[in-house]
Amino acid sequence: MKTIEILKDDGSARAGRLITGRGEIDTPVFMPVGTQGTVKAMTNKELAGLGVGMILSNAYHLYLRPGDELIRKMGGLHKFAGWDGAILTDSGGYQIFSLGVLREIKEDGVLFQSHIDGSRHFLTPEKMVRVQENIGADIAMCLDECVSYPSSFEYTRDSVELTSRWAKRCLEARSEEGSQKLFGIIQGGFYPELRLRSAEDILALDFDGFAIGGLSVGEPKSLMWDMVDTVVGLMPADKPRYMMGIGLPEDLLEGVNRGIDMFDCIIPTRFARNGSLFTWDGRINIKNARFTDDEGPIDEACSCYTCRTFSKAYLRHLLVSHELTSFYLNTIHNVYFYMELMKKIRHAITTGKFDKFYHDFKTRYEGGESNDRCSVCNG
Ligand SMILES: [Zn+2]
Repeated sequence: MKTIEILKDDGSARAGRLITGRGEIDTPVFMPVGTQGTVKAMTNKELAGLGVGMILSNAYHLYLRPGDELIRKMGGLHKFAGWDGAILTDSGGYQIFSLGVLREIKEDGVLFQSHIDGSRHFLTPEKMVRVQENIGADIAMCLDECVSYPSSFEYTRDSVELTSRWAKRCLEARSEEGSQKLFGIIQGGFYPELRLRSAEDILALDFDGFAIGGLSVGEPKSLMWDMVDTVVGLMPADKPRYMMGIGLPEDLLEGVNRGIDMFDCIIPTRFARNGSLFTWDGRINIKNARFTDDEGPIDEACSCYTCRTFSKAYLRHLLVSHELTSFYLNTIHNVYFYMELMKKIRHAITTGKFDKFYHDFKTRYEGGESNDRCSVCNG
């Protein structure tokens, strides 16, 4: 069965529909992150109202707490969390390698200590497929090794080979029944030759979709795009292409421009809790003293509940007073902004105007007067 239907191409950008067990999702799609089975500070009713059709959850975290067996017993994550939309679970490769202590990678799997209580666990590719089946994700990801930046060529090469062997084992481990899709992940660190080798291995396997992983781990952005450019042209047109853990609004635009269909990132929700809010004229930090008596909304052009109802002065007051409502209202705005951005991107592609949208957005967003960019990293 098909996993994506492409309705329109515009240059390399593509608009289509992702076919999941929970219905069809318009692509390109952005998935807010609900690591623990909840998007922080949001209710599912709110998310659905903001137009979110799909969220990302994390199999590593849910395996450790509350446990995938418990989630299965409770009827699966959709029922447990009261979410009717689609769910993609990351296998947790990235988390095992970034959060797990005393990790030891073996041919069979990875041994690590929980970052929560220090308990020891051995996770194999087969086990992570089972965990994601217990959770009941609509899309599951292969267990992979995500190398840090920088890593040596030799280390990355061995890691690519291991990830390829694990990918085959994941594919063989999946159950026959059920509608869960399984995606393979292209790794390869920051060596074009190894990215190509990984792509050759992973794309040869019969996955429902393919992801580019191991990006945005501290490398310069130009290097990240070089790695995407190295492999994206090899990815089959009739399967979904997912860029994991990306990104800022301008990154989503760049990814779509290269033919990516799916994105996820903690940025809109985490930034919201820190007061960093997106507008069509750039990003602002609501903590800034210049908003102390600002009667206007975050963005005049935004129709979200927060912008329709509250002034920047009030939102600043909530944040500096550490009021919980601040998390809620700011998250509504940032998630709404991301959903609007994706809607506009899809509209631009279907009307054959993506190139114009891409340039107009960048000119306005990057040149915006309200930009509170970080003066150190300009990020
Ligand atoms: Zn808003």
